[in-house]
Amino acid sequence: MSVEINVLVVEDEPHIRRVLHSVLTTEGYRVYEAETGARGLIEASTRKPDLLIVDLGLPDMDGIEVVRSVRHWSEVPILILSARTEETEKIVALDEGADDYLTKPFGVGELLARVRALVRRRVRGGDGTPVVAFGDVQVDLVLRAVTRNGQPVHLTNLEYRLLAVLVAHLGKVMTHQHLMREVWGPGQAENSHYLRIYVSRLRQKLEPNPTEPEHLITESGVGYRFVA
Ligand code: CA
Repeated sequence: MSVEINVLVVEDEPHIRRVLHSVLTTEGYRVYEAETGARGLIEASTRKPDLLIVDLGLPDMDGIEVVRSVRHWSEVPILILSARTEETEKIVALDEGADDYLTKPFGVGELLARVRALVRRRVRGGDGTPVVAFGDVQVDLVLRAVTRNGQPVHLTNLEYRLLAVLVAHLGKVMTHQHLMREVWGPGQAENSHYLRIYVSRLRQKLEPNPTEPEHLITESGVGYRFVA
């Protein structure tokens, strides 16, 4: 790795910290550690990490509070670690601006894949490119035009808005609630079955194989994620 990439791990369980430290260091990342949320917030502001890994169950505060607090001043990618019993907290953390999650216990391969994806997005981020391409599809976010193999694809207004929100958050897990709010507006969170219908329509129009989507990915019980 030519540029050093700093990762801050906020996790109270020594065993998990040790594993994360060992795996990430071996891959060339520089790892900082914090055992509490309060320490994590201090380290986050002084170390300016390129990625935050935050456990949801911390001794002094909820991991959600760490996410919320960091989001006041930083867009740094945040990967949360959650236990199986923390499904609700996980969704709240994503709504508060976390980018992705891993459920414990997780495999090393999966961890590294998530870390790489988030760091890559960070490095590439901010280029402000208005055209996103995936498969044989191009989405022009300025002209609001979608083409497939160079041919225009007709999308309804809601279909386009949903696609644009997902595409604008490449790789990030978007919760049902967040998507409903962005596309249908506040007060529609209860109608998340719309979402399933519209995602299905987008898949029909844009995925090579709509039954095995490669780009508009379901995050079971949580929401959706766009992968280029
Ligand atoms: Ca914990």
